[in-house]
Amino acid sequence: MKFETLAVHAGAAPDPVTGAVMPALHLSTTFVRAPDGSFPSGYAYIRDANPNRRALEAAMAQLEEGAAAVAFASGMAATMAVFQTLAPGDHVIAPLDAYFGTAKLLREHFAPWGLEASFVDMTDLGAVRAALRPRTRLVWTETPSNPTIAVTDLAGVAAIAKEAGALSACDNTWATPFLQRPLRLGMDLAMHSTTKYLSGHSDVMGGMVVAREQGRVAERLRAFQSAGGAVPAPFDAWLTLRGIRTLPWRMRAHCANARAVATFLAEHPGVERVHYPGLPRDPGHALAAKQMADAGGMLSFVVPGGRTRAFEVAARLRLFTRATSLGGPESLVEHRASIEGERTRAPEGLLRVSVGLEHADDLVADLAQALGT
Ligand SMILES: *Cc1c(COP(=O)(O)O)cnc(C)c1O
Repeated sequence: MKFETLAVHAGAAPDPVTGAVMPALHLSTTFVRAPDGSFPSGYAYIRDANPNRRALEAAMAQLEEGAAAVAFASGMAATMAVFQTLAPGDHVIAPLDAYFGTAKLLREHFAPWGLEASFVDMTDLGAVRAALRPRTRLVWTETPSNPTIAVTDLAGVAAIAKEAGALSACDNTWATPFLQRPLRLGMDLAMHSTTKYLSGHSDVMGGMVVAREQGRVAERLRAFQSAGGAVPAPFDAWLTLRGIRTLPWRMRAHCANARAVATFLAEHPGVERVHYPGLPRDPGHALAAKQMADAGGMLSFVVPGGRTRAFEVAARLRLFTRATSLGGPESLVEHRASIEGERTRAPEGLLRVSVGLEHADDLVADLAQALGT
């Protein structure tokens, strides 16, 4: 079945009792036991499972072509669950330009707990191989990356990890399963912040881990989910599944708009550099063309004049809202260096853009007036 069809139908069935076509919202925290002590519905208590969460997980397993999907209350809770499958003394290889919260989690929370981490340039497979240690148990990737939209060779990293006996995981938040299928490329796990494109409307937080196979890791994730309870509320699961119904069509428009904006910026004399793998001259172009269906809705650009000029341009934009996050219908612009603080690797003149679903002509016109042409 094609992705668009799956996105509409995955995890859905009309309610056999009421005939409702759309899923009911199940708020009950507890579920009835049969006289023999069994749970005939398959549900016992909300922390273990809930019908709305289960429908969302079923849909995500299908979209990512995995055997098991485990939902969490946030992307970071999902990432944390993956790290929790490891043991003190284990070693993780992560990208130098990992999502800021992921790097922070490793440095500030898991390092004291005994998990060791090396941060490498993941676009260089030699650097990934060189970072391997006898206790390397996980290679964590994120592509396209933040904020330079660099592209990592997922099949290449998966092969290196496999050879070393380590798990491989891809933060697939920015690409979404519509544009990139990490498990098909050999990764063991695909992780999502469903807060972004999957829910798609900037109004619900959530996370997901999809495992290629059933087995020890999937079981550990499921056990950690129910033991810790960092799970999405029923309405959050319901909203996220609703977002998934239109994912492919939203992604098509995000990609087309991002391409138009990137092309305009690349030709603008007031712009020093544009990072967007959809541009033929971008260093990630060939690889993105190979492993992604399209280049995505995220880009960044650098203006000469550092922080002062970047703030000036962002302040003059009218359609692009100055705010963090991504993946909603509205275009957002963000100065990454000032939000990431001291450890940032973002150039001071860089602005990151989540290209929304407005008309591309209006977005380009807004950038033109803000850059002053
Ligand atoms: C937002 C984001 C996260 C964190 O997700 P939350 O839902 O905010 O916890 C992780 N990775 C990437 C790439 C993100 O964009």
